[in-house]
Amino acid sequence: MPRGVVPRQPARTGHQDRVARALSPTKPVPISAGRKKDARVGGGTPKSKPKVTGRGNGAAGRSGYDPLAPERIAEILRRLDRLYPDVTCALTHSSAWELLVATILSAQSTDVNVNRVTPELFRKYPTVEAFAALTPEQLEPDVRSTGFFRNKSKSVVGAAKKVVAEFGGQIPDDMEKLLTLPGVARKTANVVLGSWFKKAEGVVVDTHVHRISRRLELTTQDDPQKIEQDLMRVIPREKWILFSHQIIWHGRRLCIARKPKCAECPLENLCHAGDKTWSTVEMHKNAKA
Ligand code: SF4
Repeated sequence: MPRGVVPRQPARTGHQDRVARALSPTKPVPISAGRKKDARVGGGTPKSKPKVTGRGNGAAGRSGYDPLAPERIAEILRRLDRLYPDVTCALTHSSAWELLVATILSAQSTDVNVNRVTPELFRKYPTVEAFAALTPEQLEPDVRSTGFFRNKSKSVVGAAKKVVAEFGGQIPDDMEKLLTLPGVARKTANVVLGSWFKKAEGVVVDTHVHRISRRLELTTQDDPQKIEQDLMRVIPREKWILFSHQIIWHGRRLCIARKPKCAECPLENLCHAGDKTWSTVEMHKNAKA
């Protein structure tokens, strides 16, 4: 490398300072461009405000930028496919019932933590009927390490009793029926329907999907149900199941909650998240986890 040429580095603040605005996502900007006051694309003065013309997404519409443009969504999906071609649910299970239990236990916990507990749990209580015969108090010691164990025990035992009493011991492959089970909301129902029954009834919105959908400006919502509705509008149905798995893996590997690894992220030049740790494109302050 010639003397005096320094490779681009992320700013120490975690944000790349003074990145030029309104940049084409396909055109990375050398850091030196941001150092000159008048190097801003569009020639605006430092005080001039960008014109907002888009879909009311806060970040949307600046200089024609539309975070929900079909070609942008398609490119995000293409890159996710390349990054995570065959990802599946990380919760250990061998039946719809086991997946349901593992998903209930995974709330406010990690998959690794749940996978430490469930093999022994399913050895001890091998069928849904075995769980239905328990009281929540009897189950508590077995699931204590996953956190919120009293509520989780109540949900698992309550769900088992209902599955045995009303569904003949079989987990229903139907959203409406699943939602009648104690402790089962849309996230759990979507996991079971998508991963076990291969039915795309919705998009799983867990903490990773919540965070990354906002960072990628696929939604501005904060409520999981509204986020799911937004994702169902912009992601093609045949991608709903895989998309959730891919985003969950992306959230574990690169787009972590604190200090996402943006310099290593193949989505970087499509992502304008306000809390990026590295950026070659304009960052949108509203696009945050
Ligand atoms: S660039 Fe950073 S914030 Fe954006 S998706 Fe990648 S890791 Fe997440």
